[in-house]
Parts: sequence; structure tokens; C-alpha cells
Amino acid sequence: MVAEIVDGKKIAAQTRAALAQRIAERTGRAERRPGLVTILVGDDPASKVYVGRKQRESKEIGMHSESAVLAVDCTQKELVATIVAYNQRPDIDGILVQMPLPKGLDEDAAIRAIDPCKDVDGLHPMNQGALFTGKPGMRPCTPAGCMRLLESCGYDPAGKHAVVVGRSRLVGKPIAIMMLDRHATVTICHSRTADLAAEVGRADIVIAAVGSPALVRGEWIKPGAFVLDVGINRVDGKLVGDVDTAAAAERAGWITPVPGGVGPMTVAMLLENTLTACELRDGDQR
Ligand code: NAD
Repeated sequence: MVAEIVDGKKIAAQTRAALAQRIAERTGRAERRPGLVTILVGDDPASKVYVGRKQRESKEIGMHSESAVLAVDCTQKELVATIVAYNQRPDIDGILVQMPLPKGLDEDAAIRAIDPCKDVDGLHPMNQGALFTGKPGMRPCTPAGCMRLLESCGYDPAGKHAVVVGRSRLVGKPIAIMMLDRHATVTICHSRTADLAAEVGRADIVIAAVGSPALVRGEWIKPGAFVLDVGINRVDGKLVGDVDTAAAAERAGWITPVPGGVGPMTVAMLLENTLTACELRDGDQR
């Protein structure tokens, strides 16, 4: 079997086009544009690239987009004051604090300072609790993007065995809950899992979110499995995922490439969350 390569770039572009249309309809009715602010602390090159992309793509679909850049040595108080100021701004619907923050700053406290209704990354404890209890709320972007990729291929997780490799707050835990909500049977693996190969070998759906190049080997993959590779690793100047893609593609039914798979969907879901936050704040009935 040779896997279908899931084109995240294309599906993200379609998602953005649909969002652009919804925004154009809003402005056509003389309603305001949704507003997104990215808050970057320091000048980490990778974070600057990520923030730049979020800014560019939000502007392209007609959002109001702005950035706040704080010095690497800013204090927790300054960071929280910046967040609180955006909480109070009526033209801002989404607040994204780019992680990781420089050493010495408290990421949890920064996330808690964001108004949960503007927490478009879905990391505030209120939104994480909503996810856990199956209530409406902002969903974390990367797991939401993975679910959208499955849907776009017409793949129904109900009754399937999903194996999540990684248990982070950002990806592993939330996607495990989302898979459970879609009626998959879920196994979560992590750094202490005794036999990762055996766990992955039982999976109809594999979600690799570790940050370790080619950790998931091709020969582990159950024939026909759906492989979602979330990892982003730089090896010899090239981006690679957590799955040995070439070998896994020989056995999988579907596989997401790196780059061009899950990554573009993450930004698309951030934009979708921002528009949804705007519609909810304005009391739209969609
Ligand atoms: P993290 O470092 O917070 O978590 C990594 C997880 O992997 C931990 O839960 C750990 O237990 C587990 N782990 C470590 N070694 C393991 C092993 N040998 N076997 C099994 N599990 C092991 O990372 P994260 O924030 O979840 O990110 C994971 C990867 O996904 C990174 O490469 C990151 O860059 C990438 N990422 C990509 C996107 C995207 O948009 N594509 C978004 C977020 C993160």
C-alpha cells in the first residue's frame, strides 16, 4: 500500500478562503472585522517566523491584525498588563501569546491572564476544562487542525483505535480527548511507555507529537493506518516530523507530510477561533 499524502497546505488554504468569505459577509453587513493580536516577548528567530505567519495570514483574510513586541527582559507584570489591556479592547477578539516565553516568565500565569473568550490558543484552564467536560469553548489549534484533516479525508474515528504519542497540554492530551469525543478508543503514550512499537502497531490512527525526528518507524505502522505527524524538527537545515515518513508511507493509508501537513492547519484553526470568538462576542447566531 502507498499512502495518500494529506495536503494540509491545500486544506488550510480552503479553510482560509471560507473564513475570508465569512469576514467579507460581515463587513458587507457593516459589521466590524475580527481582531487578532500576537504578543511576542524577545526575539527568538523561530517565534518571530511563527508570529509573522499568523500576522500575514490573518491580514490576508481581512482580519484586523496587530502585534505587541516586548523586550526579552520584560517583567511578568509588564506582560500581564499588556494582556489585560488587550482583554479590555473591544476591537480585539483573539489574544495569542507566542510560546515559549523567555526564561523567568511564568507561562501559566500569562495564559491565566487572558480573557477565556479571547483565548484563541485554547490553553486557558477554563477552555481546557470545557474540552475535558465536553462543553463549548476555544479548542487548541493543532489538535483541532488534526481533526479537520481527518474529516477532510472523510475518515470517521468512531470505533477506531487512536494512539497518541506525547502527552503535552498543547497537543497530546487535547487530541486524546477530541478523539474520545469522536468515539475512538484512545491510548496515550509518553516517554515512560514500555513498548512504543507495540502500541503504535495496534493503531488505526497514529498521532505523533513528541519532537524527536523519525521516532515512529515505518515498520511499526499498521497497514492502512491514518498517520498524523505533528512533530517539527530541524535536521541538517531541513524540517522533518516525528515519523519516518518515507517508510511509513509504504504501509499507511494516509499520512501528513512535514512540512505542509499539520503546521498550516494550526494557523488556519487559530484564524477560525478568532472569527468564532468575534461572532460569539457580537452575539451572531451562526
Ligand atoms: P512537549 O515537549 O511539550 O511534549 C513532548 C511529549 O513527548 C511529552 O509528553 C513526552 O512524554 C513525550 N515523549 C518524549 N520522548 C518520548 C518517547 N521517546 N516516546 C514517547 N513519547 C515521548 O512537545 P509538544 O509541545 O507537544 O510538541 C511536540 C512536537 O510537535 C514538537 O516537535 C513541536 O515542535 C511540534 N508541534 C507542532 C505544531 C504544528 O503546528 N505542527 C504545533 C505544536 C507543536
